[in-house]
Amino acid sequence: MVAVPTGMPSARTVALVLAVLAYRRRLRRRDRWSRPALLAYQDRALRRLREYAYQKSRFYQDFHAELASAPLSALPVLTKQTLMESFDSVVTRAGLRLADVEDYLATLRGNDLFQGRYFVSATAGTTGRRGVFLWNIREWVQVVASYNRAFDWAGSTAGLTHQVKTAVVSSTNPSHQSARVGASIHSRWVPTLRIDSGEDLDSIITRLNDWQPEMLIAYASMVRLLAEAQLPGRLMIMPRLVFSASEVLTESTRRLATAAWGRSPYNVYAATETSGIAAECGEHAGMHLFEDLVITEVVDVDNQPVPPGEYGAKVLVTVLFSRTVPLIRYEMSDSLQLGGDHDCPCGRPYAVITGIQGREQESLTFPTAGGQVRAVQPIVFHHIMDRVRAAGWQIQQTGAGLEVLLAQPHEVNPSMLAGDIRSALAAQGVLPPPVQVNEVIAIPRTALGKAPLITKTSTSP
Ligand SMILES: [Zn+2]
Repeated sequence: MVAVPTGMPSARTVALVLAVLAYRRRLRRRDRWSRPALLAYQDRALRRLREYAYQKSRFYQDFHAELASAPLSALPVLTKQTLMESFDSVVTRAGLRLADVEDYLATLRGNDLFQGRYFVSATAGTTGRRGVFLWNIREWVQVVASYNRAFDWAGSTAGLTHQVKTAVVSSTNPSHQSARVGASIHSRWVPTLRIDSGEDLDSIITRLNDWQPEMLIAYASMVRLLAEAQLPGRLMIMPRLVFSASEVLTESTRRLATAAWGRSPYNVYAATETSGIAAECGEHAGMHLFEDLVITEVVDVDNQPVPPGEYGAKVLVTVLFSRTVPLIRYEMSDSLQLGGDHDCPCGRPYAVITGIQGREQESLTFPTAGGQVRAVQPIVFHHIMDRVRAAGWQIQQTGAGLEVLLAQPHEVNPSMLAGDIRSALAAQGVLPPPVQVNEVIAIPRTALGKAPLITKTSTSP
């Protein structure tokens, strides 16, 4: 039984929603594949992607010259810088120029498509050049379906016959992929309140109380702020499902959210370049990689594979459905840890990520006694800060050392906390810098509304 919406969504929205639902059925069938069947499919999909790129992309004809039949692991790594410098020859459609796409993005309002046929998103580009990515409508169906898969696995019943009131506290900048995904399927079927996470927290709480979402999607740091508001009753919502997307979902945030809403939140891993990459199933024992959509290689700084159980320095992603801008061994700076086996009780055949440390930019570097410089991963700080009772925290590395901001701390001894951090750094083999602990009303948020747990100023080492 199909409910006919009366809000008159555009013909394009209707076609897109129907295509996404059809594709969702295909994705669900893959969840029941055996692992050998999944890997065989992945091989075929990779071969199709490479054949397409070698036919249509001048860039890949050169970049993979003499390597057309080499295994994936022998292919060169594509950086964002190379991609953006070579954009006009990477794309598989003649006449598609980066300059025109940039012009379009600069004036983008609402949900207009580039040249009437391409969805475009840009990466935030806090460091270096921003990345720009395009999808035609066929690719976009798979982008939307990949996000939808995370909701599907969590048991969301959203579909043509059932509306799920959703609230998304995220960026509402139209050049952001999550905003485009939302805008392109917004209709009576998916009644969604989108709140910019840069808004004042009190106003976010008021709007959520008015809307009463059944499903809540937010950055990890926002999930934490909202759980903190729910526990004393300032926020009073009863979502059946909470999703944490982007940023590291720490164990303490997970515990807070579980205490606030009675269920563990679902962690989702996605990036503009790839769309959905991985998501939790109901076991909450790590995130299953979407290996039928994206090949994710966990590698060290020299692009060599890192064994399960160890954190990599970055990932190389191959987006199997990418056609307009083919992405083959594209480098992203996330640090992941793969799980050892594929026997999740849920029966899905996909490998599991058991740890994610967030973007490499979050790792801080410190001098060692031997005169070298060593990176300390965010998880070292998370282990200490997870035990601290506060409404929020942030560690800033400045020229003078570390400044720890605590929002509304309860029973925290600043000198003991500073001592714990210095000991943890010493255990990492670096020279501990001075650590200053300061109390604040609220953790400062970026223009995008994120409250990064670890930041550094440009003058730090
Ligand atoms: Zn599972």
